[in-house]
This record gives sequence, structure tokens and C-alpha cells, in this order.
Amino acid sequence: MMTSEKTPSPSPSQEEKTNLLGMTLPELEDFFLKMGEKKFRAAQVMKWMHHRCAASFDEMTDLSKKLREKLQQTAEVRPPKVVLEDFSSDGTRKWVLEVGDGSHVETVLIPAGGNRRTLCVSSQVGCSLDCSFCSTGKQGFQRNLTPAEIIGQVWVAQKSFGPRKDSSKRPVTNVVMMGMGEPLMNYQPVMAAMKIMLEDNGYGLSKRRVTLSTSGLVPQLDKMGDEVDVSLAISLHAPNDELRNQLVPINKKYPIQELMAACKRYLKKCGDSRDVTIEYTLIAGINDQKEHAQQLGQLLKGLPCKINLIPFNPFPYSGYERPSRNQVMRFQNWLHELGYSAPIRTTRGDDIDAACGQLVGRVQDRTRRSARYAEERIPAALVDNNWQPAN
Ligand code: SAH
Ligand code: SF4
Repeated sequence: MMTSEKTPSPSPSQEEKTNLLGMTLPELEDFFLKMGEKKFRAAQVMKWMHHRCAASFDEMTDLSKKLREKLQQTAEVRPPKVVLEDFSSDGTRKWVLEVGDGSHVETVLIPAGGNRRTLCVSSQVGCSLDCSFCSTGKQGFQRNLTPAEIIGQVWVAQKSFGPRKDSSKRPVTNVVMMGMGEPLMNYQPVMAAMKIMLEDNGYGLSKRRVTLSTSGLVPQLDKMGDEVDVSLAISLHAPNDELRNQLVPINKKYPIQELMAACKRYLKKCGDSRDVTIEYTLIAGINDQKEHAQQLGQLLKGLPCKINLIPFNPFPYSGYERPSRNQVMRFQNWLHELGYSAPIRTTRGDDIDAACGQLVGRVQDRTRRSARYAEERIPAALVDNNWQPAN
């Protein structure tokens, strides 16, 4: 089933206004102080935006009429424009968001056991890192998303469930930064958005329920460890530099040993004991042999981690193939024998492809591909029905 929502194009005066949606609490406090208002207004407005999904100051009834009018002059709450909402019979939902210049990004909400719903969020339009097995990389890089466009994806998902009346009942219980783009290549906006996810006046998610996935930008990873405390997933995909250089070209700049050391440094900075999720996309005949499993086992010794196996999702002209089910199981067994837990991603929302087929033109192509990837990208540890976060 599909619905489309039409939002009027912003008028020129709207475009000049400050969008409060992507502001962290300290930024918003600063904004109010500069307006000559009290600091506590920031928390009040944040709750209206992120708990109750208010998109206009008129709704914020505990602000005086005078303040609301003052805000209207200079500011706005502008979520990204939803061009399509799509949902499958198993409860998986997907939103296609327009982000200007005819570009679209998607956000996918995947239900996974109990009341858990994981939102897969995009950070960039396209990606510049050109991993050889990734369709987003093949699309090239268009631009970074703003903090409002990133947190706006959570806003849109939450809004579809109606305002949050009871703070213990969250429509979005987990967020994974595994949609389009490399989040650490869009550092500040992604940090701002994650801070709003963690902030009580924002989405109030625990640090174990917000996961950043990266192909391995070492300096930014070190910086992130000093700034926020979230769960970490590493797109490894190869157990040695020679192979990883081919699959994940950023490896030439930050080779595997440097990346492993950065993971350990990151874990040390976390406020509790945590595992890194190692994402390993299995590609037939490329990285799915016994020697690869053995090298992987050796490489990960001493790193608190769980491996997540993702059978490659083929796309036209990729030149790669997905291994057989048997080969995937064999690879998993080799890792088990070496003492590693290595869940295989479970497929969700099978019928969403049929729905995607109803989309038209440019949206159709991107949606079909990236919806599949979004499913592929969720670490099985996060979607397996048996798995529960520690808190
Ligand atoms: N740029 C970040 C986050 C987005 S990509 C990163 O690389 O980690 C998230 C995951 O999508 C990657 O781990 C990669 O394994 C997965 N992915 C990309 N293309 C894929 C494909 N064709 N098949 C299976 N997984 C894919
Ligand atoms: Fe970019 Fe991640 Fe795709 Fe690599 S796997 S091209 S880093 S989105």
C-alpha cells in the first residue's frame, strides 16, 4: 500500500528562516539567549518538535502568543518533504524524502521482535567512497544532508505513529546510520543528529540503541569517541589489506590494522563494556572461502565484537554474485568453529519490492535498490528476533 503526501513548496521568506529541527539542546539554548529569551525555552521547544512532532509554533501552546509570533518572524520547524510512504504486510515501512535538486533519500523502519522498531537513516545523497559492491557508491556523491534532514527522518517515522503520549512507548526504538552515505564523511551534521536522538528532550534513545556504521575513517572515528557514545558497526568485508583495498578503497588510506586499533580506542572511551559489530558482506568467490574465515578469526582476536554476515545483494553490472545459501552456512560454521558468533541477516519486508514497483521514474529505480540495501544493512544482531539490547 502506498500513500503520497503533498507539502507546499517553501516560499522564499521561509527559506531564509532558521530551521530549529536540526538544533541540539545547547544550540537551541544559544538561539533563545540571543533572542533575549530564557534558556529553558529550548527544552520546551525541543519537546514540542521531537516528542509531539509539532511542525508549527502555533501548536506550542505553552509559549506565549508574543513569543510564538516572534519565533515565526525568524525561525521555522521544517522536516524533509515526504514524497512517498510505502509499507509491507510484515510492518516494514519506507519513506522517500525529497532533498532538493530532484534527489531523494530513503528511510526504512523495520519491526524486529517485541516492540522493537529499527530505523535505517541516510546521511548523504550518494557516497564518494566507491566501495565496489555498493550501489550507493556507484551513484556517486551529490551532497551532505543537513542535521534537520538527518533527524528529520526520525521525525517523519515518529510522526506517522502520531504524537508520543507516553514517553516509554517509542515508535522508533533503535536507529542505525546505515542508509545512503558514509556518516563519518558528513561528521558535524551526523553528530548533531545523533545528539538529538540521545537527548531526553529529543528522542531519548539509549547509546546502545543508536548505531553508527562506517567503512573506517580513522581520524573521524577517534574524534567521535571524544564527542558521543553510541554503538559502532564497521564495514570490514575483507580480512586482509590486499582484498580490502579492492572492495573498500578507503582502506588504502586507513589500512586494517589502523582501523582495528581505532576500534579498540573507541571501545575504551565508551561508558560501558561494548562489542563492535563487524559487517561482512559475503561475495561469491571473492571473500567467502575458508582461508578468509580463518584470516578473519585471526584478525579479530582480542577485539570485543560480533560478526554480522550479509549475503551480497546483487545489482545490475556489479560484476559480483551472492554466494549460495550452503556457502553462507559453511562460512558461518568456520567462524563458529573459531569461537565467533556470526548471525546471518534475516530477510524482512519481502513484499516491499512489489510496492516499490508501483513507484515511477527516478524514484522507482533508487527506491527499488536502496530499499533492498536498507534491509541488507541492518546487522542481524539488531534484527534477529532473539536478540535484545542489554538495556
Ligand atoms: N557507509 C557506511 C554506512 C552505509 S552502508 C558503511 O559503509 O558502513 C551500510 C552497509 O551496507 C555496509 O556495511 C555494506 O555492507 C552494506 N552494503 C552496501 N552494498 C551492499 C550490497 N550490495 N549487498 C550487501 N550489503 C551491502
Ligand atoms: Fe559509501 Fe558505505 Fe557504500 Fe562504501 S558501503 S560506498 S562507504 S555507502
